[in-house]
Amino acid sequence: MNIHEYQAKALLRSYGAPVSDGRVVLKAEDAKTAAGEMDGPLWVVKAQIHAGGRGKGTFKEADAGDKGGVRLAKSVQEAAEEAQKMLGRTLVTHQTGPAGKQVNRIYIEDGSDIDRELYLALLVDRQTSRVSFVCSTEGGMDIEEVAASTPEKILSFSVDPATGYQPFHGRRVAFSLGLKGAQVKECVKLMGILYKAFMEKDMEMLEINPLIVMPGGSLKVLDAKVGFDGNATYRHPDIAELRDETEEDSKELEASKYDLNYIALDGEIGCMVNGAGLAMATMDIIKLYGAEPANFLDVGGGATKEKVTEAFKIITSDDNVKGILVNIFGGIMRCDVIAEGVVAAVKEVGLQVPLVVRLEGTNVDEGKAIINGSGLNVIAADNLSDGAEKIVKAVKG
Ligand code: GDP
Ligand code: MG
Repeated sequence: MNIHEYQAKALLRSYGAPVSDGRVVLKAEDAKTAAGEMDGPLWVVKAQIHAGGRGKGTFKEADAGDKGGVRLAKSVQEAAEEAQKMLGRTLVTHQTGPAGKQVNRIYIEDGSDIDRELYLALLVDRQTSRVSFVCSTEGGMDIEEVAASTPEKILSFSVDPATGYQPFHGRRVAFSLGLKGAQVKECVKLMGILYKAFMEKDMEMLEINPLIVMPGGSLKVLDAKVGFDGNATYRHPDIAELRDETEEDSKELEASKYDLNYIALDGEIGCMVNGAGLAMATMDIIKLYGAEPANFLDVGGGATKEKVTEAFKIITSDDNVKGILVNIFGGIMRCDVIAEGVVAAVKEVGLQVPLVVRLEGTNVDEGKAIINGSGLNVIAADNLSDGAEKIVKAVKG
């Protein structure tokens, strides 16, 4: 689960991290009042979307001279105008994909003077099963670019969970970032704060790009991107409240309400499968036959007819879907339940694209009988490979 920059900053502020004063604005008419609550002489007006790269992003239907999603302003009036110009428009960055994201919230921040921009992140390193610090002197830019062209400029190390964060971790960060004197102490303290917040709130990622050194030498968190472990939100009601559903894929959101494991993808073949392993294999074999899956969907072991119906509706609501492959191995899941769900869903929403159904396992004969007796235009398949071949053929000709 991701949150907005302004929410991340409020959270880090509550742990004692240095962040600028700022106000979030949802309506254009509130921008002037919000900006007026800060003294200036510099204001930063920042589009709030769940994606990075806003500064270098571009708005759709951009006018000549139109700027990105992070703008500096020299007066309250100018800050309000920039906020008004961004609200409601669609911002495209290298992280949003070509469709971009609509800007519904603006964060107006007290502007900072910058001496150096540094990069810092904490993340769960799956290789070591530990929390890692990643830092670089090359802040403010795309870290993927730094990693590709000058990997020696990135330092990464993990923290032993038995000791937790220790001051030497902070010193390691400080020295690699070229910090000196009092800054080292400040860095040790800040890293401790960030590590504590990361652990206590079950974060998956905490990226500060840039962490800045101000002309006076002190450090400040200028940008913050935080992701939480979705499986742990049940123990953080305060974090769950920060969820902005408008930022999430509407199909994924719908699926989560029915406890379906669904992830939207870019391809054209909608997949309904039971079991994560079979779902992965189904996606692979669709690719093998020359098409791309439109989603990952595991309906789970104990799915009901209603759940299957919802799953089918979510798949068909995706305009990219040009064909559907239902691939079920009935173990705990019964083939007749799947068949009933599919038939019920098609009766409700119709079927505009080819549908291939491959059923195997528990109650397979009953399942096939339900499909055959329904009068639906279904292409039956005998096995995984046959099913994939048939749906790709039906879609691509
Ligand atoms: P991102 O593009 O989505 O990563 O948004 P950031 O919050 O990182 O802002 C992008 C860039 O805008 C930063 O790297 C800074 O160079 C600049 N910027 C952001 N806030 C300030 C500020 O308070 N003062 C100044 N001078 N520049 C800022
Ligand atoms: Mg940034």
